[in-house]
Amino acid sequence: MNKRIVQSYRDKLAVEEGFVVKHGAGLRIALCYPNTHSIGMANLGLHTMYELFNRIPDVSCERVFLPDPAELKEYERSRTPLLSLETQTPVRDFDVVAFSISFETDYLNMARMLQLSGIPVWASERNHFHPLVIMGGAASFLNPEPIADFTDIIAVGEGEILAFQLVDAIVENETKDDILLALARIGRGFYIPSLYDVIYNDDGTVFDYIPNAEGVPRRVGRALASVNPKEGTLRRAIRRGEKELAEFLTTQDVFCPSTSVWSPGAEMGDRLLVEISRGCSQGCRFCWAGYNYYPPRVVPAKDILAKAAEWRGKTDKIGLVSTAVCDHPEISTILRELRAMDYRISVSSLRLDQISDELLDALVESRDQQIAVAPETGSDRLRRVINKNLTNDEIVDICGAVFDRGMLTVKLYMMVGLPTETQEDLDEMFVLVERIKDRMLEAGKFFGRAGKIIPSLNGLVPKPNTPLQWDAICSEKELKRRIKYVCKGLSRIPNVDVRFMSARIAHEQALFSSGDRTVARIIDRAAQLNGDVDRALHELGVDPAFHTSRNRDYEEFLPWSIVDSGLSFEFLKTEHQKAQEALSSLPCPAVEKCTTCGVCPSTWLADAPQGLINIQPLRVRESLAAAAL
Ligand code: SF4
Repeated sequence: MNKRIVQSYRDKLAVEEGFVVKHGAGLRIALCYPNTHSIGMANLGLHTMYELFNRIPDVSCERVFLPDPAELKEYERSRTPLLSLETQTPVRDFDVVAFSISFETDYLNMARMLQLSGIPVWASERNHFHPLVIMGGAASFLNPEPIADFTDIIAVGEGEILAFQLVDAIVENETKDDILLALARIGRGFYIPSLYDVIYNDDGTVFDYIPNAEGVPRRVGRALASVNPKEGTLRRAIRRGEKELAEFLTTQDVFCPSTSVWSPGAEMGDRLLVEISRGCSQGCRFCWAGYNYYPPRVVPAKDILAKAAEWRGKTDKIGLVSTAVCDHPEISTILRELRAMDYRISVSSLRLDQISDELLDALVESRDQQIAVAPETGSDRLRRVINKNLTNDEIVDICGAVFDRGMLTVKLYMMVGLPTETQEDLDEMFVLVERIKDRMLEAGKFFGRAGKIIPSLNGLVPKPNTPLQWDAICSEKELKRRIKYVCKGLSRIPNVDVRFMSARIAHEQALFSSGDRTVARIIDRAAQLNGDVDRALHELGVDPAFHTSRNRDYEEFLPWSIVDSGLSFEFLKTEHQKAQEALSSLPCPAVEKCTTCGVCPSTWLADAPQGLINIQPLRVRESLAAAAL
């Protein structure tokens, strides 16, 4: 065992609280986050899965991270196999290696971690003595195909439901083959890539997926937790006839996904992170997180506040995690009570149309966060294309409300390469940023100082399971030109500090998010080459344009269709067509019996136990309701 690596891990543990070490557990799970400890510990999904697995008796779950640069050097020098954090056990000695992957760009790190563990990257090269390799997390909602050949099991859905079903199947079945078959036959939540043969057309597109074992469904449904993530435990108790436990769970307070290990050395490690709601109602057509977490669900205020009270002795900082903080129907109560507890509040994202005075007041008071808003573009027409139903006037007003509270620096998330984008649309970005800057200087006179406008520019990457899934990414050359043009124009405006992501990175993202199984060999080779995707493509003679730069027909079988997202084809197609015509749509109403996008009838409400459904009606702005077609 390498002493330096062990010491580095023990140093990390020495400042942490709440981690779990269970000796002699019957099932050992290595929960792998494909990035460093510092970044991974800011991920609430990792905290949640760690807590859920360790709550199961006889299951021990330990964390594994991508080594930081100094550790990596030591791993490579000493040829030490990758170790878990808690007990410094080689990852290859665990029964299960479960990856929690939030971003498709981390696929490279997944392959790298398997390589470092001494576990064959390709599932077909592993035998019954190797651990089961599982992938879950937000990226599995998107398109797991690029790493399908690396994994034995892909958990498609939310961990609160799937953790318990997974453990049951592993415990109740003897062999690896039996476990895989049992999970596949559930029909929802577990995609077993080896149980499907992929048939390709002559032109390289996917023709279909054919199950190669009896009882395996043609398509795998996603499993979503209801408002109450304890639902997985409840289902398990009902299924096993554990009446007392089931009764207890139905009367117990809601489980609130939150920080489970206090890790002050990590990013955001000085605060309690609490997920207050999941999903966003808005339906921005480029946003995979919005569609993939339909319908929006909330954790009740009383449970969030109970968690906050429990942690107040440890920290005065709280991060509210949500794609749409102000959609929460009890947000006023939450903010008021947290301020009464003297918490300094930050939020994971701000949706412009829902920013309230009370939220801005809370953020200003805490002085713990730079305000970042997302106009996306400078053109009102283009904003209708992507169904972001705000005007430039409204955006300037909202920024003004931030500046008038003395917060004179804002970050603006903006994109280029949107469908139907013209040169005039790009020029409108300059006008919008100039107006925001002027409004900042006006407010700055009162405070006797000036702030900064920080536009952060990205290329649009069309994502699976969104209405833009059929669109090609803007060509790399053209994307580069537009980024350069906008950066140059914006940098001429005083008090503006522009940042940007390269066109190359956007194209890499597009490859990993829209690719099929053939992309796996690029990932494997690039991981061996220290992340050099260009060189891997060159060596393998692959043209990524086939996956990224091709407008797809509605008739084409999309690689990610093996997982049924619940979103109906007709809904996505209509939204895609409305995008071309710059027509906006109403947000998801999140009401029972709605069938608009197909998710509720097909994947969730039909299957949720009585009494645990708590979809809250959303507040739709009257102006928006009137404007939408
Ligand atoms: S079916 Fe209706 S309520 Fe359910 S997610 Fe879709 S739009 Fe929202």
